[in-house]
Parts: sequence; structure tokens; C-alpha cells
Amino acid sequence: MMTADVTFNGRLVLPSDLDWEEARVGRVFNGRRPDRQPDAVLFAATVDDVQKGVRLAKEHGWIVSVRSGGHAWAVWSVRDGGLLIDLGAFRDMAYDEDTGIVSAGPATKGGDELSPYLEERGRFFNGGHCPSVGIGGFLLQGGQGWNQRGWGWAAESVVAIDVVTADGELIRCDAEHNSDLYWASRGSGPTFPGIVMRFHLATRPLFGHLAHTVHAYELEDFAEVMTWLYGAHHRIPDNVEIVAISTPAPLPDGTERRVLLVTGAGFGDDEDHARASLAGFNACPVIDRAIFVQDAAPSTLAEHRAQQEMQNPEHWQYVCDNAWIDGENTPEGIAAMVEGIRPLFTTNPTERGFAIWMSNAPRRDLPDMAFSLHTDAYVAAYTVYEDPAEYARNRSWVDAVFAHAQPVTAGQYLGDSDMTNRQLQFMAPENWEKLKGIIASRDPEGRFHRYLAADQETLNINHWVLEHPAPVS
Ligand SMILES: Cc1cc2nc3c(=O)[nH]c(=O)nc-3n(C[C@H](O)[C@H](O)[C@H](O)COP(=O)(O)OP(=O)(O)OC[C@H]3O[C@@H](n4cnc5c(N)ncnc54)[C@H](O)[C@@H]3O)c2cc1C
Repeated sequence: MMTADVTFNGRLVLPSDLDWEEARVGRVFNGRRPDRQPDAVLFAATVDDVQKGVRLAKEHGWIVSVRSGGHAWAVWSVRDGGLLIDLGAFRDMAYDEDTGIVSAGPATKGGDELSPYLEERGRFFNGGHCPSVGIGGFLLQGGQGWNQRGWGWAAESVVAIDVVTADGELIRCDAEHNSDLYWASRGSGPTFPGIVMRFHLATRPLFGHLAHTVHAYELEDFAEVMTWLYGAHHRIPDNVEIVAISTPAPLPDGTERRVLLVTGAGFGDDEDHARASLAGFNACPVIDRAIFVQDAAPSTLAEHRAQQEMQNPEHWQYVCDNAWIDGENTPEGIAAMVEGIRPLFTTNPTERGFAIWMSNAPRRDLPDMAFSLHTDAYVAAYTVYEDPAEYARNRSWVDAVFAHAQPVTAGQYLGDSDMTNRQLQFMAPENWEKLKGIIASRDPEGRFHRYLAADQETLNINHWVLEHPAPVS
């Protein structure tokens, strides 16, 4: 075997091995697995393994892909050809009391592992909503964590990273050293030209009290409720995460059916602060039509994590997409946005499917980093099913509802995207140019896989711009 002279502390699995299929996709969250076949999978146990893996790939002309938590919906880690380096073993955490910085391996689960570890120490990091998401892919693409609206994109809290480069060197990257890679790591997502072995993250003091407001509305009230929310969300204090969800929910009459939940999670210094920050929800003009209202009930992150796990069952099949929604803050603009997103919330064909609208307003200025495209509101819709025969129907539903939303779509977030199906803008054009330059200098031989996309030539462009270019005047 060509690799006989390289020994690993972990294990190199080849297609001829009995557990090849498990090695290829066993750690993938989405039960809708791709057919793509790498040449080998390396389960790395040490940083040295990763460095040797990159050098071995160079010898064989293999392109390297990386897996941390395995949660990419479109399974970016599993590519045709090349070496898949699985970092599942890198989940150790260390907290420095003097600096408030926690450092963690890329497969650390943001909610299941990092959050409880920090809570025990009176600290907090706004990791992903679903507790099992790995911090690796999450942070590289920006990271829409708890109360991202107020506390910023999780990538904004990355103070340094340790990276294995295309040459197999291990380097520290921060604002002063290798600052190009540090810049790229905060938003480039699955085209980052290196392998992050460790993230060093600024933490914040743990909030004092979490209060949770939930209003449940019938779907036919969608337009009225969302018109109010679009007019109100800018004024709700920024310690509140504001999410509207279309989901099946247990109701007070003992039934369970799809409803629109308008929710506010108020992260307060104390109970009074958290309660007061949620007061704006009571001004909803159709609150008297709510099926139920839960007003600022005491809550915990553990409860929220359990809820997220129920909503996202592991190894079920998912087809999803997302959009940054944009429009004028006028009655006409709001009406267009509400109508644009309405089918996402009212017509999901799967029983367990759901859609989210998440406030990002008032929009914060972003620091200089690769992540650079967001608007006042984010939407994503998910079909959730077990029978692969449902794929075609669910795919066409997702495509149709996002085509309907196109007139109010500014672009997409990498985290819920699948560029093999639909390519949109995800970064400011100048950041995209800068990122391409960094990739060219850091990975000139193309050692690492780039975005998994239908067309590499039209990345970061909304597809309809290409389909209907503006007329030349
Ligand atoms: C149930 C569920 C809930 C989610 N909730 C949220 C949410 O609340 N907020 C949010 O922002 N996103 C969310 N996501 C999206 C998720 O954050 C992304 O799919 C993310 O890429 C997952 O990271 P991972 O490490 O688990 O995935 P992986 O599939 O392991 O990684 C994805 C890709 O990122 C790159 N990558 C990962 N680690 C490294 C590394 N160490 N070095 C270099 N490149 C690397 C690779 O290209 C890799 O293929 C959710 C996804 C799921 C399935």
C-alpha cells in the first residue's frame, strides 16, 4: 500500500476496509447522505496526524476536506476524491480565568459541551442553537449563536486560531500574526485554506436570568402578526433573541398542530431586567387571537437545548435553504417582505418540518472580517422526513418557496446553504476579492477543497442576476 511508510496515532481508513461506509458518513448529522467517495478517511488523533495527513495528501496529489462536528446540511466534508481528515477527536477545552479566554478543539459541541463547561465557571459563549453543532464549521462560516442579534456573530469572539497550513506547518493566527488567515477564518466557511486545530474564544459573563415569551398564533394570522413584528423588532432591546417559528406544537387543548410561535428569549442581568426587555411583545395588535401566551416565563439554556434537539432529530433527512430578507421599512416594503416569506411558514409539506424568521435588527456594524453580508431578518425553512422517497417533493417545495421570496432576497448565510442546488451572494464583493487573494497565496496548489458548488465561476453572485442581467443602457 502506498501509505505503508506513514504511521498515524489515529487511523487511515480506505475504501477496501470493512468499515468504509461508517468512516465516510457515519458522523454526518443529515440522514440524506451523498454518494460522493473520497480516496481515504483519516481519523486524526493528534495534531501531528493532521500535519502528516496534509503532507501525505501532497505526495498523492489528494485534495483535503475536513470534518469537525459533521453538521453541514449539504455534507461539505464528503467530497469525490482526496483525503477526508476527520477531527472528531479534537474536543478538549481549557479556560483561562485571567484572560476570560476559552480554547477548544474544532469538534467541541457548542451547546452540549462548551456551554455547560463555561456555565460551571460563570461564563458564556454564544454557540449554535442546536447543541450538537461542532464549533469548527460553525465559527468558520460566521456563527449565528444565541442572541447573535445583540452579542454579534460568534466569529467576532474568535481572538486566535491554531492552523495547519497547506504545507503541513502549525501556525498561530490572530490580529498581529498571520492576520490574513485570521481574517479569512471569520466567515469564509468551507473554503478556508487551512485546518483549524484550535479556537481561542473571548467569553462573556453568564447572564443572570433567562425569561422566555411565547405567543402561539394560527397560520392564517401570519400576515398580521409578521407585519407587526417587522414594525416592532428594531425597538425591542438587544438582549432579546427574537424568533418566529412555524412548527407543530403541543397546544393547551391537548392537540398538536402547526402554528406560528412568536418567541423572545430575554437574557437579563436579573429577573426584572429580563422581564422588562420582553414587554414589547405584549403590544402585538392581535394578541387576543393568540392560542396561548406565555409571558416572560423563567427558563434555562438547558431547556432550550432540549427543545432544539427535539426539533432537529439526528439522522433524519433534511432539505433546507435560507435567505437574508431585505426591503424598505415602509408599509409597502414590509407587505412585500411578509408576502415573500409567507409560503415558507404556511405550506411546509412535512409533518416535522419548520421555518424560522430571526431578527437581526437593529443591524450592528461588523468588524473587518470575511463575514460581511447580513440584513435585518434571516429566514430558513427545513423539510424533515425519514423516507428518501419524499426527497423530490421536498426539494421542489424548498426551491419553490425560496423562488417566491426572491424579490425580497439579498443573499444567503453559508450555514444553511447548499450551493450544489442554488448559488447566492454570501459576502460583500470586496471581501470576496480579498478572500480569493488570501486563498491564492496560502493554498497555491489547491491542497484544500473549495466550496461545494455547482459552478465555481459564479460563486458569490445571486443566480437571478446571471439569468436576467441588467439591460445595457
Ligand atoms: C441541527 C442543526 C442546527 C444548526 N443550527 C445552527 C445555528 O444555530 N447557527 C448556525 O450558525 N448554524 C447552525 N447550523 C449549521 C452549522 O453551523 C453548519 O452546518 C456548520 O458548518 C457545522 O459545523 P460542523 O463542524 O458541525 O460541520 P462539518 O460538517 O464538520 O464542517 C463543515 C465544513 O466546515 C469546514 N470545517 C469544519 N471544521 C473545520 C476546521 N477545523 N478547519 C477547516 N475547515 C473546517 C469544512 O469545510 C467542513 O466540511 C445547524 C446545523 C444543524 C445540522
